[in-house]
Amino acid sequence: MKFNTKAIHGGQKPDLAYGSVMPPIYQTSTFAQSTPGGHKGYEYSRTHNPTRTALENAFASIENGSHGLAFSSGLAAIDAVLKLLKPGDEVISTNDLYGGTYRLFTKIYEDFGIKFHFIGMENANCVEDYINVNTKLIWVETPTNPMLNIIDIITTAKIAKRHDVLLAVDNTFATPYLQQPLDLGADIVMHSATKYLGGHSDLVMGALIVKDKDLADRLYFIQNASGAVCGPQDAFLALRGIKTLHVRMQRHCENGKAVAEYLEKHPKIENVYWPGFKHHPNHLIAKSQMTNFGGMVSFTTKGNNYQDAMNIVEKLNVFTLAESLGGVESLAGHPASMTHASIPKEDREKAGVVDSLIRLSVGIEDETDLIGDLKQAIG
Ligand SMILES: *Cc1c(COP(=O)(O)O)cnc(C)c1O
Repeated sequence: MKFNTKAIHGGQKPDLAYGSVMPPIYQTSTFAQSTPGGHKGYEYSRTHNPTRTALENAFASIENGSHGLAFSSGLAAIDAVLKLLKPGDEVISTNDLYGGTYRLFTKIYEDFGIKFHFIGMENANCVEDYINVNTKLIWVETPTNPMLNIIDIITTAKIAKRHDVLLAVDNTFATPYLQQPLDLGADIVMHSATKYLGGHSDLVMGALIVKDKDLADRLYFIQNASGAVCGPQDAFLALRGIKTLHVRMQRHCENGKAVAEYLEKHPKIENVYWPGFKHHPNHLIAKSQMTNFGGMVSFTTKGNNYQDAMNIVEKLNVFTLAESLGGVESLAGHPASMTHASIPKEDREKAGVVDSLIRLSVGIEDETDLIGDLKQAIG
C-alpha cells in the first residue's frame, strides 16, 4: 500500500459489532468477563482499549513499523523510552533539542544516574567519538527546533548498529509523509502527535513506533506499568487527523516554500532557515532522506533587534502568536521570549536563537493571505 492509502486505511478494519467505518469511541475503563479471565481481548483500558488499538495500528502502518504505542503526550512517549535504561547508562543526544525533551533528560533522568552527552550532530560521524561501553541510546531530532538543522539518519543508524546502541528519532517536524526513520535504520520513532499527526491543535498526545517485537514488548510493559496512556476520545481524534495527513502535509510544504522564498527576498530580513534552500548547510542530506521540506520556517531581521521581532509578531493577523506547531492554522512564535526564554541568553545565542528569531508554523490557508500578512507585519 502507498503512503496516501495507508494514511486512510493502514491498520484499520470495520468495527466487528455493526461494521461502523470509523472505530467507535470505547469510552469505558473496564470490560465484562464471562468467567475470570474470560474476555474478548480487552480487560482494562490502561492496558488496552479498542479505540487506542486502532490508532496504534495506524501509527505502525504510516511509519512502516510492526508496533505502535500511544501515550498521553509526546513527553510521556519519550519518558517511556528513557525507562528502558538503568543508572550508569549513557545517552548521546543532539544539542539543538526540543526544550521539554532537554528538561526531561537533565532535570529528571540525570538525577536517576543516567548520563547525557549533548553534541552537534550536523556531522554525524562525530557521534562515534562519544560512544563507550555504557552508551545505550542515541536520541536524534531532525529537522531540529527552531533552527531547522538536519541530521543524517542513515549514517547515525550505521554507527548505532556497529556499537549495538538503540537509535531513536523524534520525527515530529517531518512526519512519516516526508521521512520514515525506521526504513533509514532507526530502532524507535517518536512523535508529539499533538502537532502534525493530530493536525488540528485539539489534542495532546505522543507516539512510539518500532519494528522489533522484543523492543515493542518492553515498551508495552512500560506503557502499562507506568500508565501514561491517552484516552479513547483523543485516540479517535488523532486517528481522524491522520486520515488527512498526506493532503495537509502537501499544502504545508507548498506554503512553507512560498513563505521561505518570500522572506529570503525581503530587504528587512537577515537569515531564513528552511532546509529546502540550496544554501542550507545540510540541504543535500535533507534532499536524500526527506521527500519535501515541511512547513516550518524560521527567520531573523536585519539589525537583530528584539523590539523589531516583537512588533512583527504582534502585528500578524492571519498567523496567530502561540506556542506549538503542526496544525492547519498558521502560528508564529518568538523563541527568545517564549519557548527558549528559560535558557540563558548566551547559550541560546550559541544555538542560533538570537533576539530577532521568529519561528513560523506555516498552515494550510491560502498562500496569498499568508504572504500578505507577513508583508503588512514586516513593512
Ligand atoms: C511538542 C514537541 C515535543 C513534546 O510533545 P508534547 O506532546 O508537547 O508532550 C517533543 N518533540 C518535539 C519536536 C515537539 O515539537
